[in-house]
Amino acid sequence: MKVVVAGGSFAGLAVALGLGGRNTVLVEPHPIGEHTKSANAMPFPLAVRFGGRASILEVHPELVLHVGGRVFRQPIDPPYVTVDYRRFCTHMLEAAGVEVIPAHALAVRPGGVSTTRGEIEAGVVVDATGPMAALAASIRPGYAERSHAGVGLEVEVPRPAGLSPGLHFYVEDALPPGYGWAFGAGDRARIGVYLYQRRSWRVREVLEGFLARFGVAGGSRHGGLIPWRLRAPVVGDVFVVGDAAGQVMPTTAEGIRPALYFGYFLGQRLREVVEGRVELAEAKRRYQAEVWRRRRAWRGLELLQRFVSVVPASLDAALLAGGQRLGFGDRMFRRYVRAMGGGS
Ligand SMILES: Cc1cc2nc3c(=O)[nH]c(=O)nc-3n(C[C@H](O)[C@H](O)[C@H](O)COP(=O)(O)OP(=O)(O)OC[C@H]3O[C@@H](n4cnc5c(N)ncnc54)[C@H](O)[C@@H]3O)c2cc1C
Repeated sequence: MKVVVAGGSFAGLAVALGLGGRNTVLVEPHPIGEHTKSANAMPFPLAVRFGGRASILEVHPELVLHVGGRVFRQPIDPPYVTVDYRRFCTHMLEAAGVEVIPAHALAVRPGGVSTTRGEIEAGVVVDATGPMAALAASIRPGYAERSHAGVGLEVEVPRPAGLSPGLHFYVEDALPPGYGWAFGAGDRARIGVYLYQRRSWRVREVLEGFLARFGVAGGSRHGGLIPWRLRAPVVGDVFVVGDAAGQVMPTTAEGIRPALYFGYFLGQRLREVVEGRVELAEAKRRYQAEVWRRRRAWRGLELLQRFVSVVPASLDAALLAGGQRLGFGDRMFRRYVRAMGGGS
């Protein structure tokens, strides 16, 4: 049975890896690893496991939260790293050993997928095409509706003087609900803004204002929608994973860890199907259960997102200060990491 995976970024590559390359083709319009949209920060163990040590550009042992004019430092374990997207993805592709068809997947057809390079026969179809979920939306119009999506935009520029290692986040009343960030990546830095609600503000303007404080004017922008509410993980006979399935954690917009975790889990279940050990219906059931058991964590983070969207940054800062005094910082971070695969 042939598996067609549409989308060759974190989620699609993780599915291919979980499948062990068995009977799998990947449909991706861009050369693998050439088209990043993200700051590419993730937990250290996950980066080593999926992208290899050589993909790591910088280790970040702490969160540095610039909130309401105050600065909070929280050591993190595991540390996070920023990675080189191209090296990360090509490492995954080599490990998966799958054929890549350079095309856009357009729609699901009986027995296959239609693409800009013609029809491809498929026994199983996976949609890992990112926020617009091209294939799931082809059979369920409205699947990728945008009211539960934010928007992120960033630049990669030479590292500004004084940017220390650590994931720097900025929450201020001068910024719309969401946050700004500045992450070092060796001699470069990734600086961007994330708005929880796509419609409410002009993201380019907000980014320009944010960059000015670092003395940065140029750099090419990349980014896109960030869907933060879980969508159905199976639509008809199509498995949906990563951003396509809304698997981005609310509040933080961490999407790489869920894409890798759920993608690999799904790939393993499909491998059992391809090898004739498990029925397709059972694979669907297990994948759906694995995703939906995170529903509570997602709801909790969505409530937190709503809370920080409406309270002034000074109140966020007061709560953070109180939490740190009581030693909650470490505990909260561990809980957050455990909510989604434990960081490895
Ligand atoms: C500015 C910004 C910064 C971010 N920073 C971070 C961060 O530091 N850490 C973190 O954890 N998360 C971050 N995120 C979120 C993270 O980037 C995503 O959650 C993650 O990329 C999801 O991976 P994915 O494979 O599901 O989707 P994507 O990375 O969106 O990949 C989808 C793939 O599908 C391909 N594709 C699209 N349409 C089709 C089609 N019709 N047919 C075939 N292929 C198609 C695309 O070319 C792409 O390669 C950030 C997001 C943004 C916007």
